[in-house]
Amino acid sequence: MEKGIMIGLETHVQLNTKSKIFCGCANPVNMKEEAKPNTLTCDTCLGHPGTKPRTNKAVVDMAIKVALAMGCKIAKETYFSRKTYFYPDMNKNFQVTQYEIPIANNGHIEVGGKNIRIKRVHMEEDPAKLIHMPGGNGVLVDYNRAGIPLLEIVTEPDFRSPEDARAYLQKLENMLEYLGIYDSASSAVMKSDANISLSGGARIEVKNITGTKDIEKALKYEFVRQSSMIKRGVAVKRETRMWDPALGTTRHMRGKEEEAEYGYIFEPDLSVIEVGKPMIDGIRKSLPELPDQKFARFVKDFKLPQKVAESIISEVDLADLFEDIASKVSPKVAGTWIAGYLKKTLNWHGIRFREAGIEKGWITGLLRMFERGDITDRNAEMAIRYMVEEKQPPEKIVKKHKLGKAELDLTGIVAKVMKANNKAVKDYKAGEEKSLHFLVGQCMRETRGQADANEIKKAIIRALKDFK
Ligand code: ADP
Ligand code: MG
Ligand code: ZN
Repeated sequence: MEKGIMIGLETHVQLNTKSKIFCGCANPVNMKEEAKPNTLTCDTCLGHPGTKPRTNKAVVDMAIKVALAMGCKIAKETYFSRKTYFYPDMNKNFQVTQYEIPIANNGHIEVGGKNIRIKRVHMEEDPAKLIHMPGGNGVLVDYNRAGIPLLEIVTEPDFRSPEDARAYLQKLENMLEYLGIYDSASSAVMKSDANISLSGGARIEVKNITGTKDIEKALKYEFVRQSSMIKRGVAVKRETRMWDPALGTTRHMRGKEEEAEYGYIFEPDLSVIEVGKPMIDGIRKSLPELPDQKFARFVKDFKLPQKVAESIISEVDLADLFEDIASKVSPKVAGTWIAGYLKKTLNWHGIRFREAGIEKGWITGLLRMFERGDITDRNAEMAIRYMVEEKQPPEKIVKKHKLGKAELDLTGIVAKVMKANNKAVKDYKAGEEKSLHFLVGQCMRETRGQADANEIKKAIIRALKDFK
């Protein structure tokens, strides 16, 4: 990447509280199945006039957790504001958000050895969801989403490449999962607006980027588009663009001059939130061990290689699994298998460990077999794959798919191969070392690679002795 590239992110996270931010309606992100449209609503989240919203304390607690995890300064007193917002997904015509004094500001997070400054963290409500009917047949509104608590986390323009921005989002997502306030496997969404500027051009805001992968794609697209304009001498003017994930492109949404006048005013229906020291101290005590701390401990206490530790802590599920298993089999074996084959299999299915439907004890059981030498490396890998597919304990999987060493009738296979390859047997007996390799290869083929080459070799030599 060229010098003079600056990127800043504004990320909205749907929090997993039980109820919505300003009313008692259930928060849909916690539901296994999607609720019928407009069933999780009340007068407040429908935005009826005269209703009295109240602030859900759990949202404030979660915001403080994030603020503490990012070393932010927390406001002693904070409040909500109304932001003028004229669009059919918000029928009271304002969004309740925070403006002048957000709950927290001035934090930082380390990403890939670089310090990224956090400008502010604030709370706000999600608008309703618009569903555009195909063929221009109208637009439907689902108010289930209205009032889902959002946390907006804004960075300073400290990223110097799209890859940096992606790494940050991954780290942020991971941290939120450790804090237990966001679950990437649920329907909760993490959406970002990215600001990007190159030297010689104005700053462009790209809206509507969901998840971690698209951040990199959208920013790379913008980088190429803007740098080609600058090279051609075309002015890059301040504008807001929309990311289109299907096309993989951004398109013009509005220019600076069309930017809405938000006319923020104090929200009179909600009381000011006082955040005292006892409250902050209480939340600080409840903070779990965070990814960076866990990484350091895994490297120090379990002597895990940095790469392995990094891979394991990148998912809170895997970190818990490792911790559980490392006390039962050797940490080295637990580490390499979790970071390697298990993670590979889960990634292939695009799932987290908690979604795989397998028990921690099953992995322990399999690794014990491996440690005892009852199963080969290769077959243990196969067993993990079958386990994820069939959701059965290792003993059953190994038996069913004949993966254990005990399941193989090595003597029988060797006898069969020797009978079919008489010449090779004779040649080996006559001192032709190559022929032994050949016989071992034939046996490997017979066992479809399930047996250990060394074991086969021993079995052949044994069989030859008996032959005499
Ligand atoms: P605004 O008031 O226009 O919303 P902010 O100062 O709140 O501007 O910044 C919004 C986002 O834009 C932040 O994430 C910030 O890091 C980013 N940003 C600010 N200046 C630049 C720049 N020159 N290039 C890229 N991003 C920027
Ligand atoms: Mg802003
Ligand atoms: Zn409601």
